Amino acid sequence: MLPGALDHPEVVVDLGAIRRNVAFLRELCAPAAMMTVVKADGYGHGLVESARAAREAGSEWLGTATVAEAMALREAGDTGRILCWLDAPGPDPTAAIDADLDLTAYSIDELDRIAATGLPARVQLKVDTGLSRGGATLADWPALVAHAAELERTGRVTITGIWSHLSSSDEPASPANDRQEQRFREALAVAEAAGLRPEVRHLANSAGALLRPSAHFDLVRCGLASYGLDPAPGVTPADVAGRLEPAMTVQAPLAMVKPIEAGESVSYGATWTAERPTTLGLVPMGYGDGIPRHASSTGEVEVDGARRPMRGRVCMDQFVVDLGGDTPPAGETAVIFGNGRGGEPTAQDWAEASDTISYEIVTRMRGRYPRRYVDSGGRP
Ligand SMILES: *Cc1c(COP(=O)(O)O)cnc(C)c1O
Repeated sequence: MLPGALDHPEVVVDLGAIRRNVAFLRELCAPAAMMTVVKADGYGHGLVESARAAREAGSEWLGTATVAEAMALREAGDTGRILCWLDAPGPDPTAAIDADLDLTAYSIDELDRIAATGLPARVQLKVDTGLSRGGATLADWPALVAHAAELERTGRVTITGIWSHLSSSDEPASPANDRQEQRFREALAVAEAAGLRPEVRHLANSAGALLRPSAHFDLVRCGLASYGLDPAPGVTPADVAGRLEPAMTVQAPLAMVKPIEAGESVSYGATWTAERPTTLGLVPMGYGDGIPRHASSTGEVEVDGARRPMRGRVCMDQFVVDLGGDTPPAGETAVIFGNGRGGEPTAQDWAEASDTISYEIVTRMRGRYPRRYVDSGGRP
């Protein structure tokens, strides 16, 4: 084996980078509080580890989609505030309330199910201001807040927050942002008139946090940017984007290096044919490990200080890159993506190569290979 070579492909997560990103975002958005969103296994970076790094950087809140994700954080020992918003409260909200989670209700039915437990539940109300995903419609909102205020007066729930979610925060010039923010302010006024005084009002995700200070309210919900990725590439000001440090590196030892002749084709479907003799490197990761097949023939990796273009289709377990005549030994490291500071591609580059967003690239990296945590330090 090559000295120092990797034994197998790996996903490396730098917890120091997550801490620095969260600390930077908190500073940028102060005095708003920070909710670090750790759903979907911390966007592929690990639920519990990412959450711990976020807490160390001062994140007052954690956000998850499902109750199960939030329960896993409690089981791992997290005792801080956690909001979940998707299947809340679930068929029986008792366990979630007992675990001291803040639940989200979209409807009177959900509120009643929570109140029916007889437990002192903390609930946030979500209003749909134009994304048309979860949340009460504007038409249903007055009745929902009136009902919530009544339940609160009789001591059956505490309404800790009112929130909504933006559809187009990565396009700051879109009129959708002004419209949603205006509707949110109106919904807050209706809630206030009904007697609600929530602890936190919140609207912004990462792009809203970075690009729209008027949407910060009492708290921002940052997912992607916490992991060091830019939610609005090309739009985020360079001095802000430059502070984000991608926390995930994916790398693999080349399984084989070999020459091919002009006229030979590579991978399924023979979609790429060598015009001249070259050398190929076999990267032992494929779509079974999260490498997007849509990046076939367009993705790049870094080997031995240079970018190496992919040739042909991504397979389930492997893909092939063009080493352009170089002959590094098998076992040489191929960096699929990293923070870009060593010249390697980034998750954003892979997103562009596969016509998607960096959110999807990092979240996919949950294949058969282990995740390894490193810590570059920088405890805030
Ligand atoms: C995922 C999610 C977020 C985080 O979004 P980012 O763009 O990753 O910051 C915030 N709020 C809600 C409701 C979400 O579902």
